[in-house]
Amino acid sequence: MPLKLGVLFGGQSGEHEVSLMSAASVMKNIDRQKFEIIPIGITKNGHWYLYKGDIDDIQNGNWLDNSYKAILPPDPSYHGLIYFVNGEIKIERLDAVFPVLHGPRGEDGTIQGLLELANIPYVGAGVTSSAVGMDKVFTKKLLEHAGLPIVPYLVFTKKQWYGQSEDVAENIETRLGYPNFVKPANLGSSVGITKVHDRVELTEALNLAARYDRKIIVEKSINCKDVECSVLGNENPRASTVGEIMPAREFYDYQAKYCDTATRLLIPAQLPDEKIEEIRTLAVKAYKVLDCQGMARVDFFYENGTGNVYVNELNTIPGFTHVSMYPKLWEASGLAYGKLLEDLIDLALERFQDVH
Ligand code: ATP
Ligand code: MG
Ligand code: MG
Ligand code: MG
Repeated sequence: MPLKLGVLFGGQSGEHEVSLMSAASVMKNIDRQKFEIIPIGITKNGHWYLYKGDIDDIQNGNWLDNSYKAILPPDPSYHGLIYFVNGEIKIERLDAVFPVLHGPRGEDGTIQGLLELANIPYVGAGVTSSAVGMDKVFTKKLLEHAGLPIVPYLVFTKKQWYGQSEDVAENIETRLGYPNFVKPANLGSSVGITKVHDRVELTEALNLAARYDRKIIVEKSINCKDVECSVLGNENPRASTVGEIMPAREFYDYQAKYCDTATRLLIPAQLPDEKIEEIRTLAVKAYKVLDCQGMARVDFFYENGTGNVYVNELNTIPGFTHVSMYPKLWEASGLAYGKLLEDLIDLALERFQDVH
């Protein structure tokens, strides 16, 4: 009997649309002989639905038309999704869940906590690693503590920015200078991120980041190439080859990631072999520092001129769209998309057995 796999898509973060693309891609590439897909949509307001329509209608945002209201109870006796058809209550059993959700309330340990309570195995990192991976400040603190290279940064709260704007701006200018990067501490897909060149841009950037998070991180800008490495595994994680991004814009922003077809992914990265090995080793180390499980895509800066490598961040639910680096790096390392998905589900089941 095929395993009933709940695939969560949508969600409440600024990465809702990216999740729709990622989830559709996952559902299309999964082996239907082995897995029965149960698509579960979460609206931007956080309402859950069991989706019964075509996978192609997920990406265009019309999926709600073909859905039934649903809830996932934290009570483990249901072991699945409760949904409502014409006033009648039904239950859909879930053997495992793949949360293809990016950003807060999806990738940050909240959904993972619900699945823990419900006693359902799920793909990817557990509660703590998810929460830490989502938070760029906690991530940096842990990486720094482990002696891994990171870029200089400062942290401010939204209240500090609006209460002491002049002090905050001066602090950034003296300690980091321009250009710098202003980011919401918890988000992804470059949503809310600005590369800042002067005081006017700094003010706009801090205002923008404050719309997404109560915590704002500002980093020194590195003149660099973006390079990324995929990691897969539980106890003995392994690293893929390394990929390089050639964004069609000033940096790898939302447009460059999902809209601008001129952005190129170079796999493997055009770096000396020893640098590739250094990055792969750092990727596994960073993964272990955060105690990740299942998967993560580790993002790096490769500094032009010096060749210095810095760990930027870990994405515990990386993009799975047809243009996404995580599956592409594995494909280039000899692991096909479909097989990668199977391995991820196996890792989820293995982790569940390990804990229970
Ligand atoms: P993801 O989609 O990978 O989750 P994210 O929203 O978490 O992205 P980051 O990866 O931190 O954001 O930053 C997005 C991009 O901005 C980077 O890929 C890089 O191009 C650029 N960038 C961010 N920080 C810096 C920095 N300190 N120096 C140079 N470039 C940077
Ligand atoms: Mg990220
Ligand atoms: Mg991300
Ligand atoms: Mg990134």
